[in-house]
Amino acid sequence: MGRSSEPRSVVIVGGGPAGLATALSLVRHAPHLADRILVLERASYPREKICAGGLGARADKVLTLLGVDCDIPCVPVRGISLRVGKGTQVQRGKGAIGRVVRRIELDEAIARAARDRGIRIEQHARVTAVHPVDRCWQVTTSRGEVQARVLVGADGIGSVVRRAIVRNDVALRAQAVEVDTEPSGTDPERDLLHFDARDPLVPGYCWDFPTQVEGREMVCRGAYVLLTDPKAPDAGEVLDRHLAARGLDPKSFRRKRFAERGYNPAVRVSLPGALLVGEAAGVDPITGEGIPQALGYGERAGRYLAECFEARDFRFEDWGDRIRGERFGFDLALRAGIVRHFYGSERDWLEEFLVSKPWFMRAGVEYFAGRRVPRGQIARAALHAGWLWARSRLSRAG
Ligand SMILES: Cc1cc2nc3c(=O)[nH]c(=O)nc-3n(C[C@H](O)[C@H](O)[C@H](O)COP(=O)(O)OP(=O)(O)OC[C@H]3O[C@@H](n4cnc5c(N)ncnc54)[C@H](O)[C@@H]3O)c2cc1C
Repeated sequence: MGRSSEPRSVVIVGGGPAGLATALSLVRHAPHLADRILVLERASYPREKICAGGLGARADKVLTLLGVDCDIPCVPVRGISLRVGKGTQVQRGKGAIGRVVRRIELDEAIARAARDRGIRIEQHARVTAVHPVDRCWQVTTSRGEVQARVLVGADGIGSVVRRAIVRNDVALRAQAVEVDTEPSGTDPERDLLHFDARDPLVPGYCWDFPTQVEGREMVCRGAYVLLTDPKAPDAGEVLDRHLAARGLDPKSFRRKRFAERGYNPAVRVSLPGALLVGEAAGVDPITGEGIPQALGYGERAGRYLAECFEARDFRFEDWGDRIRGERFGFDLALRAGIVRHFYGSERDWLEEFLVSKPWFMRAGVEYFAGRRVPRGQIARAALHAGWLWARSRLSRAG
């Protein structure tokens, strides 16, 4: 890379789903920029990312829109099973609602599609610092310096770009720990994603997702624990208890641990010439689901940047509003608003709601699959939820 004289039009830090989707979407909307985009990735493909790989079909819709052929090994998923303190709900969709993939294969497939479109990806290029200089951004990497007219932070949980954009960061953090094991006799059917949120002392849940490791039928099991409460138990201990309940010896598996960042609408996600996407901006704080969101951010960012190049306006003042104005951004903001109640004071009636209203979970399954949930159903859910909430308030007051 060395020392560059002329600035690159767009430098994207991070070659995960968010960064690659941003590049692909920008090329789709502004093909003339293809050879002016540079993706900086600290690792090299195929590279692992600690992740359970549960991919809602709405993520596949975005990949199709971006022209990515993701014909990779996977386990098709037809439904979701949820266990809470008050019972279990199992709901299947109409046909497949998604699949479980391995990130080593998914991210490589997206990177291949980006290269095929003429996008340059510099591997082994770790970004160590970014600074605004004149009307550009100076990017320092392990392989030299580069200047960017537009800088996109798609560098995930430890985002260097976020640190330059966000002062006094108040992120919703979570820890997630996972292992791959053999199937156990107590597993739900292999076409289900299983969530277990029955422990009221855990602000989070455990999961069992059917997966395939080098052709072998396995199960990815993990624990997601929000760090909103200082008394929250360690995710590793939560997972150990879950494994033991499945008749598995926790000591015989190598745990993989990673952090997650929930979206917070109060945090700004842009500065002049720079914006954040994907986990660098924040994903679903309730479930920790982030791949459809990362692709969603990327698809919108590419479209948005194409408009900014057209107008020659790189202030990016409305990037945060643009996210919230989209359905996926509205959903993120809603989840950020209710997450503390979801795992806190309102958990009791919310569990009752989830277990007693099967149509609500059916709507959730359709949403995961990327199918439209009728507005009437959303209104009905809001009414029922409001009624249960009021009832719980009255009973507490009495
Ligand atoms: C244990 C666990 C399980 C999960 N399970 C699921 C799931 O089943 N389904 C789901 O939808 N989501 C899941 N998620 C969330 C999901 O993995 C992330 O939200 C998603 O990967 C975010 O995509 P991204 O592109 O924003 O960031 P990432 O996928 O983290 O990509 C960031 C990229 O930037 C690169 N990078 C980072 N720093 C630098 C730097 N300084 N310089 C250059 N490159 C850099 C990294 O190498 C990486 O390639 C899980 C997360 C965890 C931790």
